Amino acid sequence: MTILVTGGAGYIGSHICVSLLLQGHSVVIIDNFSNSYAEVIERIAAITGKKPVLAKGDIRDRTFLKSVLETYKCSAVIHLAGLKAVGESAHRPLDYYDCNVYGSLCLLQAMQAANVKKFIFSSTATVYGVPQYLPYDEKHPLAPENVYGRSKLMVETIMADLYAADPGWSFSILRYFNPVGAHESGLIGEDPRGHPNNLMPIIAQVAGGRREKLTIWGNDYPTADGTGRRDYIHVADLAEGHVAALAHLEKAGLNIYNLGCGRPYSVFDVIHTFEHISNRPINYDIGPRRAGDIAEFYANAAAAKDKLGWEAKRDLRSMCADMWNFQVKNPQGYQG
Ligand code: NAD
Ligand code: UDP
Repeated sequence: MTILVTGGAGYIGSHICVSLLLQGHSVVIIDNFSNSYAEVIERIAAITGKKPVLAKGDIRDRTFLKSVLETYKCSAVIHLAGLKAVGESAHRPLDYYDCNVYGSLCLLQAMQAANVKKFIFSSTATVYGVPQYLPYDEKHPLAPENVYGRSKLMVETIMADLYAADPGWSFSILRYFNPVGAHESGLIGEDPRGHPNNLMPIIAQVAGGRREKLTIWGNDYPTADGTGRRDYIHVADLAEGHVAALAHLEKAGLNIYNLGCGRPYSVFDVIHTFEHISNRPINYDIGPRRAGDIAEFYANAAAAKDKLGWEAKRDLRSMCADMWNFQVKNPQGYQG
């Protein structure tokens, strides 16, 4: 099949493209490179021996989208393009709703016009909000606490309404927990433009000397060591989850799956594992709690296991080792 991957040059998208190409699919990437680099396309080709087609452009351009879908006869779309920084979303709500909600709407409209009705959507555990119980399962109430999470939930709602109107669609909503790590080759990994916001890329940059220190946002949470606990998932496992979801798109329907490991680690767990793997000290200080942060959350990923036959296989050591390998091989990221 030919799969259109929006945001395919980004962190998660590039790993999905590798998995798809290795499974024998053809891949077309749409990306505007607002948070990625064209070099990624060469790296994907170096890993897989196959070069994805690149259609440089923006998901808010319906005419462009329809033309790409028709020109390359795409059978399904995996939609990752979007803005993803929780903190930034509070200051730039219009940009987030424009890119994440309007962009997704344009994509669904272009797909309808091109009669392509298989769609996998990158959602997030952020849609659940403050835990009513843990682990979160897919039936947990949805009450995102920030603009980013609300923009994702709006797209989920649009998909549900579209499916109710036309059950010919085949939809998979994948709610990711905390993706980390890199491809085992060290050729692709996480290299956002500007300052990273997430824990693991900051730790990798501190270990590599690209950044001076990590600030731990709060050590007074009601957890064993006082720091926040998250369900980290290796990006290669996450990518394989998309391949599994794609195989199940053959049947029409709307399905929602948590993609996580199902066990949480604290900030100190990650720091200590990274120090052990890299043999470098991680310089840190303790700051105040970050606004909107939750003490702890993790996934019940039983639905993905039961229905998709998928479960995460790689452990925290493997996540840190692959993250460190990417940092060592690309000390200044893709531009170095
Ligand atoms: P990323 O920023 O590395 O990738 C997104 C890609 O989309 C980038 O290459 C960017 O250039 C592109 N893009 C952005 N806006 C675009 C537009 N209007 N038109 C075309 N291309 C555009 O982010 P990522 O970490 O790979 O995340 C991918 C998806 O997964 C996002 O939708 C994100 O919200 C979701 N997600 C990410 C995480 C995470 O922690 N990384 C967690 C849950 C969900
Ligand atoms: N964190 C931290 N310092 C940082 C970035 C993150 O202490 O510079 C903590 C954060 O408070 C949370 C965990 O690391 O407990 C994971 O944060 P991240 O932003 O990676 O994921 P999210 O909070 O969005 O799940």
